[in-house]
Amino acid sequence: MEARILVVEDDPDLQALLAQGLREEGYDVAQARDGAGALRAAAAEPDAVILDIGLPDADGRDVCQALRARGMTAPVIFLTARDAVPDRLSGFSAGGDDYLSKPFVLAELLARLQALLRRAGTGGSRAVGELQLDPAAHALLGHDVRVELTPTEFRLLASLAATPGEVTRRRELVRAGWPEGAIVHDNTLDVYLARLRRKLRDVQGAPVIETVHGVGYRLT
Ligand code: CA
Repeated sequence: MEARILVVEDDPDLQALLAQGLREEGYDVAQARDGAGALRAAAAEPDAVILDIGLPDADGRDVCQALRARGMTAPVIFLTARDAVPDRLSGFSAGGDDYLSKPFVLAELLARLQALLRRAGTGGSRAVGELQLDPAAHALLGHDVRVELTPTEFRLLASLAATPGEVTRRRELVRAGWPEGAIVHDNTLDVYLARLRRKLRDVQGAPVIETVHGVGYRLT
């Protein structure tokens, strides 16, 4: 299952360009042209939102605040023609996670989007071994398997699953698992990973969390 991206942009050319670029990267794309449409489309729980600040019926920052007030936690990237410092700050205080000034290069947007999705633990495929990570249920699901995960366990597993077979560094896992600025001791991460391993140990089709000494962990 690919990440679903909501694109909110009233410029039809830019909207089309973004939608095509995102689909070519394998994302599932939802589109809206104004604030009211964004609020409706967000009910489908996008994994990330690309949000123009200059919308015909609303300021994108107000739309972002409204989405946050409804409990949406997905990362938001603001787009704007303006590049003033006060705008950047107000974008972040409105609940945005990143900011791009028009005109921008599509590759730059895709790179930032990928970084945000990875941090949010929703990047790329949610397949984990032969099972699927279900963000709504905070569980790992298979045919007749259901492994309940705590929110932290879920984020750690999603982060590992974003790059199966590749090593995820310890500090990346800490970033994925805990809020920014949280003090996470080395053995806290070890404790959580040990618990995750125990949960996955007897589950058919589940991957194995392998330790790569001195580097990090990988799913195999
Ligand atoms: Ca606009």
